[in-house]
Amino acid sequence: YKNNIIRTQSNLMLKEKNKELEIAKEKAERASNARSEFLSTVSHELRTPLNAINGIAHLLLEENPKKSQMNYLSSLKFSGDYLTKFINEILEINKIDSNKLEIEYISFNLKQLLEDIKNSLKELASVNNNIFKLEVDPAIPDYLIGDPTKLSQIMMNLINNALKFTKNGTVSVIAKLHSLEDKNATLYFEVIDTGIGIPADKLQSVFDSFSQGSIEINRKYGGTGLGLTIVKKLIKILGGRINLNSIVGKGSSFSFELQFRIGSPLINVKEKTKT
Ligand code: ADP
Repeated sequence: YKNNIIRTQSNLMLKEKNKELEIAKEKAERASNARSEFLSTVSHELRTPLNAINGIAHLLLEENPKKSQMNYLSSLKFSGDYLTKFINEILEINKIDSNKLEIEYISFNLKQLLEDIKNSLKELASVNNNIFKLEVDPAIPDYLIGDPTKLSQIMMNLINNALKFTKNGTVSVIAKLHSLEDKNATLYFEVIDTGIGIPADKLQSVFDSFSQGSIEINRKYGGTGLGLTIVKKLIKILGGRINLNSIVGKGSSFSFELQFRIGSPLINVKEKTKT
């Protein structure tokens, strides 16, 4: 009888504890949703007037301004572009963290996608006097099924960084077929540069939000410190993991593996999933 009373009491206590935990969980979820909604609203509200400011700066720059005005306008455009990038990145991270990011599955041509990225970054490569190499394994199937927008965003970010932190050097982009089974292909991507490199004690933290190599690096190269955070999160969502190897003064290598279903120009799959 005594044992029964003890058992009932401990059951009651356990139930109470579980209830408390449930309430705390709901509270945390509500707080997180409210924060995410707030961030999203503020960012969208900021974006609209910013687009107007950027648009006007752009128009005025095209109207052959005087040299003194040109400097002010260029500075306005630079700051506007920076803020736009920053807001878009905050929105993107918020979307990922609140599981609202959509992944699309469509048939796409990887070779074409990488060529397009290379062309769009050609100017940055030549500004820094870098050799930009693209090596695509011919064994990779012509068409893959995946999310080309997300892949493009990942590659653009990594290559952009590689070109930014390298001067008079080489940036190589490698896409290799790792394995081909039945309907799936596993691909290995690597972006290698011969740039400034990353110190050993920063190899983990460069993926944290707002983390930049150092104040000096930030002052010299600019940037938001959010690019690699997004890259890491996107690769994870697509089923991979990012690896980083780097030696200060010698260069860096960012690599990851992803699995794709094999596509064809005739297959036009369009599935969407939320993360
Ligand atoms: P940022 O907008 O500052 O470039 P990222 O998140 O893309 O932000 O990168 C974070 C930091 O990691 C950079 O500020 C830089 O210090 C370091 N970093 C990233 N890519 C490279 C690279 N290829 N070579 C050297 N340092 C890099």
